[in-house]
Formats: sequence, structure tokens, C-alpha cells
Amino acid sequence: MLPRVRKPARYIGGEKNLIAKAHEGAEQVKFLLAFPDAYEIGQPNLGLAILYELLNERDDCLAERTYAPWPDLEEQMRSQEIPLFSVDTHMPAAAFDVLAFTLPSELLCTNVLNMIDLAGLPVRSSDRLGSHPLVIAGGHGAFNPEPLSEFIDAFAVGDGEEVAVEIADVIRRHRADESRESILRDLASVPGVYVPACPPSGLVEKRVVASLADYPYPKKPLVPVTEVVHDRLSVEIFRGCQRSCRFCQAGMVTRPTRERPAEQIKEMVRGGLASTGFEDVSLLSLSSADYSGIAPLLADMVRDYSSDKVSLSLPSLRVDAFTVGLAADIQEVKRTGLTFAPEAGTWRLRQVINKTVTDADLFSAVEGAFSQGWRRIKLYFMIGLPTETDDDVVSIAKLGRAAVEIGRKYHKGASVTLSVGAFVPKAHTPFQWAAMDRPEEIFRKVELLKGAAGDRSVNLRWQDPRTSVVEGIISRGDARIGNVIEAVWRKGGVFQEWSEYFDAELWLEAMADEGLSADDYCFTERSRDDPLPWAHIYVGVYSDWLWNDWQSAIAEAITEDCRWSDCYDCGVCMEFGVENVIGSGRPRVRSA
Ligand code: SF4
Repeated sequence: MLPRVRKPARYIGGEKNLIAKAHEGAEQVKFLLAFPDAYEIGQPNLGLAILYELLNERDDCLAERTYAPWPDLEEQMRSQEIPLFSVDTHMPAAAFDVLAFTLPSELLCTNVLNMIDLAGLPVRSSDRLGSHPLVIAGGHGAFNPEPLSEFIDAFAVGDGEEVAVEIADVIRRHRADESRESILRDLASVPGVYVPACPPSGLVEKRVVASLADYPYPKKPLVPVTEVVHDRLSVEIFRGCQRSCRFCQAGMVTRPTRERPAEQIKEMVRGGLASTGFEDVSLLSLSSADYSGIAPLLADMVRDYSSDKVSLSLPSLRVDAFTVGLAADIQEVKRTGLTFAPEAGTWRLRQVINKTVTDADLFSAVEGAFSQGWRRIKLYFMIGLPTETDDDVVSIAKLGRAAVEIGRKYHKGASVTLSVGAFVPKAHTPFQWAAMDRPEEIFRKVELLKGAAGDRSVNLRWQDPRTSVVEGIISRGDARIGNVIEAVWRKGGVFQEWSEYFDAELWLEAMADEGLSADDYCFTERSRDDPLPWAHIYVGVYSDWLWNDWQSAIAEAITEDCRWSDCYDCGVCMEFGVENVIGSGRPRVRSA
């Protein structure tokens, strides 16, 4: 098939550091780790890379990978009746015990159904038999599992390192057992696992790994054989974030913060570079400059690697944490792209969303970047945020123009890209009750911005707001949205994250056929009493706290970062017995 598809390297495997274990041994539990997007997007996924190594290190487990086949390969597979296969050894999905999906984004949910179908399984969980592999899903999509609850046998909520092994233990115990019901029942008793067919009597609490120091993965990352989105060594320097940006689901569901000890980071960088030959290192987290020891860490890395032409990047840089010193350190190694995300155009609106970055912070970060040699920077904003006015929108362009002015002090051709996305309310955030703007309103605001941006050195990029509506429907969807997802998939709607395949009409038609309206899911503000479809998933943050923080947002009141201020009792540290872990890398465990 390969000569007849566009990018055959997506399917051949053979990467450096690939682990191909023999499929034998009755004790072995076999995972097919599935990423519902193309190889070049999924291959660098850190969660999947961690599980791949961690499971393969165990004698009693085996893990391989599969990615969503591009439509050209899918056509070949279907016409030749070739099932979904692993890229590692090209074994069919049916040879595995578990098809384990990572759910990175809402728009990829139809690809999940497509891959289940290509694997030769009934798409609905209730139609599957004991002989079929289990279909399990984790990742961000598992925090509101209901839209996929008809198709996934079990969701693993929260950090995956420990629960993956516990799931393997359950499967091993049921080796000789043909009954799907008994294994699902047993899985439902594993903390952090939600089995839709066995509704829990209480809440399903997310899993939290107390100490990242116990999980120094990946140790030997796979080196892709073709171009991928992040072709570099990624080392997670901390997990969680307590900045409390009110729109940010990742920040809310991954708290509390757990830092990796600096020595371990350096060791992982050393080992990772040696085992891969990568020339770029990315120090990953939700807000990397917030790592408590970032300055000495960078200084050490600059000392160790500047002569080797190894480049260093800190994705997700906070504007207010970016200093000239930091800029100098990064560029000392090799200059890479810089993106700042002030998110909103005015200080007023930044208080509403709790992104406490002042214009002065932004300008000093921009100055730091341009003065240290960067010629192009990107600023990311959202439009359609709660309480937003036209002045907030136009101010985005004003900030862009001011940033260009700063840049021109250092380089004649300095340019700034304003990247604008529509706000989508997410489950488990203070904005989970908020309404989002209709696409017409977003288009109007984009026109406003275009008019205000003026100068050609301010480039404006925006996303089709109709993709945000679909994201909004699914992100706060209930089980009824499952029929919509299935209908869109049956009509050929796959790769909806990709603009060339996204089809808004398919979604709107499917919603109408189900008697559902995007008004209810997206454009109407929810009240305190409205039931939330994800209420049975507990991320440790009290619902009352989220509601009060939503009220604070409307009152333009700030919630401080609790790493450096007093605890405001959101609940999560008490719930999981892990306080913010900064500095030492070791958790301070609270006594009950
Ligand atoms: S419980 Fe307190 S310290 Fe822990 S994350 Fe919540 S506010 Fe911060």
C-alpha cells in the first residue's frame, strides 16, 4: 500500500529507540497506544512517550503505537481489508489486549471512532464481546468523558503513570475470563477509572502522581523517521499550574504543581541527547519560566551545551516571567521562535480572565526579546471572552502596533504576529458556566481587529470560529453528543482538527437531526443550578470555589498564584495530600 499514499513514513516505524518486544507469554498485557491524529502530530506526544517506555520496561507488559491513518491510507486499508495496525511491529489491533487512546482535543473524537472501526471492533462499547480488546481513553478529553461514553469502555482520569500499571494488573487477573462485564466491573474499582457501563456510586477522582522525580520518563525517546511537529527532545520540568487563568482547563485539572528536581532534569537532558542525537531541547510545562529554579537551570544548560549547538526552548512562556536575562540565556544557545500569550487586549479584561500580565510586563518582555536579537515574535490572544467590549478587541491591535514600535528600535524589519482564537469554555474551569460568542460575532470582531491593525508589520492570524463552536459543543457536551459524533463520523467527517477536512455543516446537520441546538451547549450562560455533565469527575477543585471564582471574574477581581501567596483553599492539595511541590522536587505530604 505504501507507494500509493502520500507520506508512507508515517506508517513504517523503525525509529531509533523503538522497542519491539515479542508477542508472547500468557502473562504479558499488550497495549496498543493510539493517538487519534496523524503520526507527525502524535509522535512527539509526551504522555504517550511516557507510557510507551514505562509499560515496555515491565516484563509483564508490552506497548506499541498507532496513529490515525490519513484518508489516503484508510482508503487502501478498507479496500484491502487491512485492519488498524501498530507502527512498531505492524501487528493488527486485534492482537492487543487494550486499544488505549490519548484524547488531546475535542475535534479529534471522530477519529477515535474511525480507529475503533478500522481496528475491526464495533464502535459502541455495548456491542463488543469479551474477545475484543478493551478500549480505554485518557488525556484531557477524559475530564469530560460523556460525549464519548458510548464508545469507550473505560476512561483513565488524571496522571497515567500509576493507573496504567493498575489497569494492566486487572486485565492480567481476568486472562481466562471471557466475560466483559466482570473485567469492566473490576476496572471500575480502580481509583481514577470511570467505566460508563458501571456508573460509580460516588465521584471518580483523578489520579495524581505525587512526585515527578519517581518517573524520569522518557529516558530514551523515539526519534521520528520523518518530519514531525516537535522534532526535539522534550523534558517535562513540572506538571500542574496554579496561576489560575480562569479559561485554562489544563491549569485547573493538573494542579497542584509538582516540579522535577533540577539535577534530574539535567540528567534527562544529558541522557536524552546522548540516546537520540537531537539538537533541540524543550523544557516543557504549562508555563516553563515559572519553574522555581529556572535561572540557575538555564545557566547550567547554557554552560553545558552552547558549544554543541544545542538549541533550547521554553514553550508556554509567561510574559511576566520573561526577563532580559532569560532572553539572553535562551539566545546564547540558539534563537528559536518566541510566543507570548497575554490572551486579552486590556488590563481590565486580563483581570477578568486572571491573566495578571500588565501592559508594562508585556512591553518589557517584548523589549527583552527584540533587544536580544529576535526579529519576529508572536502574541496570542483570545476574543469572545466573558465581559469583552469592542475596546478590549481593538486594544489587541494597539498592543501589536506598540510591540512593533519597540522592535523597530532594534531592527528595521521587526514584525509581530497577532494570533487570535475564539474563547471556548471548558469543563472544570471557573468559565465552565460562561457563554461563548456566536461565529458571526467573532467574525465582526476580527474585522474590527483588521481595521485597527493597520501596519503591514502587524500580521493578523485567526482561526475559523466555527471550529470553536464544535469544540464548545463537545467540551461541555453530555452523552447525547455521542450520537452527533457518530453521525458526523458515519458521513465521513474525520480529521476535523484539520482545516482541509473540517466541515461545520456536517456537525450542524447532525445536531439538528438529534434535536439538539448549539445555543444550549455554547451560547447560553449556565446557572449555578444547571447540572454539569462532568460533575461525576472530580479533579479536586471544589465546585463552590470554581463558582466563586467565576463571580470574582465578573467583578474583575484577581486570584493570586497560590505558590507564592496564601492558599485560598481551592481544595486540591487537601484532596490529594500533595501540596505544591516546588524547589526540592519532593512532595510535602499533608497529614490527614
Ligand atoms: S489547595 Fe491551596 S495551595 Fe493547593 S492548589 Fe488550592 S489554593 Fe493552591
